[in-house]
Amino acid sequence: MPATVDSNAEVRHDWTEQEVRALFELPMNDLLFQAQSVHRQHFNPNEVQVSTLLSIKTGSCPEDCKYCPQSAHYNTGLEKQRLMEVEAVLNKAKQAKASGSTRFCMGAAWKHPTDRDMPYVIEMIKGVKAMGLETCMTLGMLKESQAEQLSEAGLDYYNHNLDTSPEFYDKIITTRTYEDRLNTLQHVRDSGMKICSGGILGMGETARDRYGLLMQLANLPQQPESVPINMLVKVQGTPLENVEDLDPLEFIRTIAVARIMMPKSHVRLSAGREQMSDELQSMAFFAGANSIFYGECLLTTPNPETNRDLQLFKRLGIRPEQRIEDSDADQEQKLAAEIQAQQDADLFVDATATH
Ligand code: SF4
Repeated sequence: MPATVDSNAEVRHDWTEQEVRALFELPMNDLLFQAQSVHRQHFNPNEVQVSTLLSIKTGSCPEDCKYCPQSAHYNTGLEKQRLMEVEAVLNKAKQAKASGSTRFCMGAAWKHPTDRDMPYVIEMIKGVKAMGLETCMTLGMLKESQAEQLSEAGLDYYNHNLDTSPEFYDKIITTRTYEDRLNTLQHVRDSGMKICSGGILGMGETARDRYGLLMQLANLPQQPESVPINMLVKVQGTPLENVEDLDPLEFIRTIAVARIMMPKSHVRLSAGREQMSDELQSMAFFAGANSIFYGECLLTTPNPETNRDLQLFKRLGIRPEQRIEDSDADQEQKLAAEIQAQQDADLFVDATATH
């Protein structure tokens, strides 16, 4: 089996475990070289897409995801918050835009939205969209009709993570099935929205589970446009608080293999960045990660302060990816506004959850 990948090849949906294992087992330099070569075929290697994440409803979630401080099953001392007012959400979006974010993600800790919730989230989508930001939501499972409503309101992306391999899944979540997750992704796809779906590493899974997660994502009929790869943030009070650390180089390998298998997707360096050194994050960018969340908190777990991100971008010569309609001048202006905002100290995003 070839351990090299043709970087000009079309996107594939027939990855086998043997092939994925062969990529993971490459010498690190060979793997990184391949990942970087693939990356350069499809993206500007010095641009990283920047999203802001806001929790619009925090805590008391009936699901039992063992990594999540928002689950009502665990006592993590998390401050709960009901669904935010539409206006408050729009104010946060305005701040995010002024700080250079191009996408505004809104997360609610629900099993699924109810019909009563829908009018509010639809107002939020329309308002954020009207500001010229891309919109993303994560609200739990969706029925077909709900996916259609969100899509009609203008929602660009829906986030729903597969979390891990099908085999390991029931060690992490018992209140809904892998099939449920795949069904929601199908409804999202059918409605015409883009998919943001990835997983979490370091939950005690095996290497095979990591291969399995990437195979599930890459072998979907259409690969997710956005693939968040999270490193577990161990939160006290959750069942995973004492799980053994994952070797950070295994995390980098997973990013690199994800980049090779899903060459046109944005691979997002997501939760867990706070615990990563600048050097590890730099390596992740080299391995093909090209999207981050920006702001003080990633849902309920800490995210590196915005200015640390900006300083790292500067040191690496990386700039935030622009939306097509943003001119260079607009982007420069936004960055200047962000630097000013840092000096004013009151940095936003009281963000919050992870579905
Ligand atoms: S990850 Fe999402 S669905 Fe799972 S407990 Fe947390 S908020 Fe609920």
